Amino acid sequence: METLANQIERLRTAKKAVILAHYYVRPEIQDIADYVGDSYYLSKVASENSARMIVFCGVTFMGESAKILSPGKTVLMPDPAAECPMALMSDIDDIEKVRSAYSDLAVVCYVNSTAEVKALSDVCVTSSNAVKIVSSLSEKNIYFIPDENLGRFLALQLPDKNFIFNDGFCCVHKGITAEMIRRAKDLHPNAEVLIHPECTEDAIGLADYAGSTTGIINRATESDKNEFIVCTEDGVFHQLRKRNPDKTFYTASATQQCNSMRRLTMEKLLYALENDYSEVVLAPELIIGAGKPLKRMLELAR
Ligand code: 13P
Ligand code: SF4
Repeated sequence: METLANQIERLRTAKKAVILAHYYVRPEIQDIADYVGDSYYLSKVASENSARMIVFCGVTFMGESAKILSPGKTVLMPDPAAECPMALMSDIDDIEKVRSAYSDLAVVCYVNSTAEVKALSDVCVTSSNAVKIVSSLSEKNIYFIPDENLGRFLALQLPDKNFIFNDGFCCVHKGITAEMIRRAKDLHPNAEVLIHPECTEDAIGLADYAGSTTGIINRATESDKNEFIVCTEDGVFHQLRKRNPDKTFYTASATQQCNSMRRLTMEKLLYALENDYSEVVLAPELIIGAGKPLKRMLELAR
């Protein structure tokens, strides 16, 4: 009998589709994908690729961003219920309130946001380009939505800006506490601590390196250390181990899994290709509105 992987490969070729996968999805999906990466890399691939169909193995905001950046393509999300809870943590009324309180303000929207919120923002960022983009803005006041932790991480590096924070968070990264990291360091005193900036400020303060998922993988690969405590979602361990078979990677917590990313399975990926399920459909005005800050991100990050 034909394996799931073979069926997916056959249909991908027949449909002239490309499969994009975030580092947090299951290892078998990362292995079959055409492109695996962080949020910034995947949005660039979506905007530049010439395939007629994109199958996005990630959470809703990623599939929406792909559609916004490539409106002429069919974008499929194998599980449309894979929603990033943080993407729903910005309040549209608050954006208007903060805008009316400051004359010199940029609304900077972490890409983990709905298309509606992006359409009300001046520029989008991801964790791998946020410092570069925010430092290039002329506005002094930065309303950073929705993630408070990433906002505070940026504010520490950009003291000339006045940040206004929103209280959104990622439950996975917030759950990797400073106490857990201290315990892991006691167990592995020679390990370098690598952390994602969606973690809290006190947890980041204990790390040797903070950056996006790509940044974490690159740092571990380039480092001359042999052991690492990795403070981000478990999915990155697959690439970390593939690229560094002689190095050892530890978690800081037993619960570093994103339930939304785990929803993506090979069975759902096959079903998506067989049935063109589930197509991302956005109103044309939303594609135009949310496209502006996303395209501005791609330009400023270049
Ligand atoms: P990056 O891959 O851009 O670091 O994003 C992390 C994340 O939480 C995506 O949901
Ligand atoms: Fe959202 Fe956190 Fe899951 Fe990323 S890891 S998709 S930010 S809940």
